[in-house]
Amino acid sequence: MNDEKRSGTFSCAGCGTLLFSSDTKFESGTGWPSFFAPIEGAVATTVDRSYGMTRVEVHCAKCGGHLGHVFPDGPRPTGQRYCLNGVALRFNEGRQP
Ligand SMILES: [Zn+2]
Repeated sequence: MNDEKRSGTFSCAGCGTLLFSSDTKFESGTGWPSFFAPIEGAVATTVDRSYGMTRVEVHCAKCGGHLGHVFPDGPRPTGQRYCLNGVALRFNEGRQP
């Protein structure tokens, strides 16, 4: 999933909602698929205080499926880094949001 370089969209593995466009994907060097912005309204966030850390958890706005976390150290223009679990996503080649 992280090596996916084609143009398209990434959708929720649980319910199929389109979540991220390949236009917002970037190489973070973490080994996880990373994006600087979601498709508007597609994801929601909650504060996750597990493991003694405070992180912002990202989930599908429709089905609540866990997608990963978002960190405030991403690239421009948003400064956000959505660090996602590839198994929570499906890639749709050529499909636009
Ligand atoms: Zn979903």
